[in-house]
Amino acid sequence: MNNYTDILRQHHLKATPQRLEIANALGCNGHMTIEKLYEVMLKKFNSISLATIYKNINLMIENAFIQEVKIPNEKSVYELTKEMHSHIVCRQCNEIHDITLDLSQTAQLASQTSHFKIDKADLVLSGLCQKCQQI
Ligand SMILES: [Zn+2]
Ligand SMILES: [Zn+2]
Repeated sequence: MNNYTDILRQHHLKATPQRLEIANALGCNGHMTIEKLYEVMLKKFNSISLATIYKNINLMIENAFIQEVKIPNEKSVYELTKEMHSHIVCRQCNEIHDITLDLSQTAQLASQTSHFKIDKADLVLSGLCQKCQQI
């Protein structure tokens, strides 16, 4: 098991039992919606409220310990912060995979045509996962 206490501290966050559990859940499950996270947290802390989880999540996002992945037309999911990557979502079962894509050329082209200074390049692609293609 990862030592999330230290990692939380590196992000200037006190390692409360709730935060450790959030870190652990995201570490084990990958991308999670707030509802799924709530479900898991309730098993450990039976009186925790959704508001408490939101408060912790928001603070952990502010401190870059976790990040929000915005999926078009779906609920946001949360994951531990790691290297910049893109996502691919199955439109049938909502399974989410991380994919590393080189978007530097795309970003450059977008910058040239829009005159924006681009500082973030990630994508959410969608389709059918291998399992769902067989149904
Ligand atoms: Zn699928
Ligand atoms: Zn991801």
